[in-house]
Amino acid sequence: MQEPRRSERLAGKAIKTDASPPKLARKRKSQQKIESKGKICSSSSSVLPLLLGAHVSIGGGLHNAVHNAIEIGATAFGLFLRSQRQWQSKPLADETVDAFTRACVQHGFEGGRAILPHGSYLLNLGSPDESTLAKSRDALVEEMTRCERLGIGLYNFHPGSTCGKISIDECIRRIAESLNLALSKTRRVVAVIENMSGQGHTIGGDFREIRRVIDLVQDKSRVGVCLDTCHAFAAGYDISCARGYDEMMDDFQKFIGFEYLRGVHLNDSKAGVGSHLDRHENIGRGKIGREGFRRIVNDVRLRGIPMILETPMTMDDEDEILLLRSLVEDQ
Ligand SMILES: [Zn+2]
Ligand SMILES: [Zn+2]
Repeated sequence: MQEPRRSERLAGKAIKTDASPPKLARKRKSQQKIESKGKICSSSSSVLPLLLGAHVSIGGGLHNAVHNAIEIGATAFGLFLRSQRQWQSKPLADETVDAFTRACVQHGFEGGRAILPHGSYLLNLGSPDESTLAKSRDALVEEMTRCERLGIGLYNFHPGSTCGKISIDECIRRIAESLNLALSKTRRVVAVIENMSGQGHTIGGDFREIRRVIDLVQDKSRVGVCLDTCHAFAAGYDISCARGYDEMMDDFQKFIGFEYLRGVHLNDSKAGVGSHLDRHENIGRGKIGREGFRRIVNDVRLRGIPMILETPMTMDDEDEILLLRSLVEDQ
């Protein structure tokens, strides 16, 4: 059985308290964190900053996501915008919006460039079922409206699935129509389509499918793509080696274009290349491996773009961020 992902497990998890026993260890890590941060800041001024973080808990309130991000030494973060387990959710209170935006300003996350929320897993924006499609579209508008109220500029989501009941063409048409609807009901937030592993009947395992969705979106300035490393590997790009990484990036440029790249999900993969299995693993412990991630964190094309960990909680976010920072060569 698939191990629950960090994001799934965090959905209902309360935020960490400081009651965890290894206090000395935490202190040491914090010290390293500050040193690493200094290195990032002092890197070449012509290169955009490395925006590195993890999907963090919103337990106890959305604003806690910002504090949780700071706690792990992140310069970017992902979060859910509401409970993941149900279609309905309480309206976003003004006080929550105030607390979140205040925390963002206080910690330098304003403008939403480094925040990449993840849409609900319940959504299927290309669903063959009219009732699921309608519910998904309502939820999409609701979540994108939340982003705007919170000052978040990006919204990442899974494109959708044919469920084996409609053609890929029809599913792509429905996804694009969902986006056009949501973009017409919001003003600024960019809809960021995630590449998938090609598992089951999902759309987006092939970059060309994402391109076809983009082609049907009317306002191209408000659509983007999030590149998930585990999904790309499972879809067939062997990014554990330079040749496979170059192939993925060349295809991304050829089929989609880097101008659409708005986010990266940093996940190692438990499953093999081309397996089409979506099984996230901690950085360096999976089939992509540490060297694969060395290439990624040193690719200047990915600077200034939020890079978010969605790995199992068997390893601390803070440790994974430190590991990734240690692989950066231009500091
Ligand atoms: Zn995702
Ligand atoms: Zn992802």
